[in-house]
Amino acid sequence: MHQNPVQPLIDQLSALPGIGQKSAERLAYFFLSLPQADVGRFTETLTHIRRHIRYCERCFNLSLSQYCSICEDTSREANVLCVVAQPKDIGAIERMRQFQGRYHVLGGLISPLDGIHPELLRINELQRRLSEEPVKEIILAINPTVEGDATILYLSSVLRQYSVTLSQLAYGLPMGANIDYTDEITLRLAFDGRNPIQGAPQ
Ligand SMILES: [Zn+2]
Repeated sequence: MHQNPVQPLIDQLSALPGIGQKSAERLAYFFLSLPQADVGRFTETLTHIRRHIRYCERCFNLSLSQYCSICEDTSREANVLCVVAQPKDIGAIERMRQFQGRYHVLGGLISPLDGIHPELLRINELQRRLSEEPVKEIILAINPTVEGDATILYLSSVLRQYSVTLSQLAYGLPMGANIDYTDEITLRLAFDGRNPIQGAPQ
């Protein structure tokens, strides 16, 4: 039987999320059409990033060094923190080009059914930052889902003891929405119309 010599590449590509058999074939033949040097650069970049990627020691964004480029950027406001579930949510908010503060990545959302309890999230680390950094406002940019709501509820009780204004994104976001798939205009409106959960005690 005829065995397509490109099939192992197609099989690996079709295992990628969102890539079906047809797209995998198209990508495989695209790679084959590239000069050897371009393919080399692609695989080197993939290998380099995979080998060296780590979490920023301050905000837990993905980074290639101890601190991510956002934490290292001294022009970013240190008094506003945007709390997100995953590093990929930062990408969506950064594309909006509006938020000038810093981030804190929880590493997930509370979901008791999946065994994700608050202790597994980086909430202690967030509290440590609040005692070390001049944070005045926290924006919870968390998906409007059951897990997101549970996380917001938990955070708002834990953060009550700090002198910070706490707000969450406005629900222009549809229930069940994914921040990383939300278009920039909707996300910007959700940011601008953010709802206070609690104000800083006077
Ligand atoms: Zn960082």
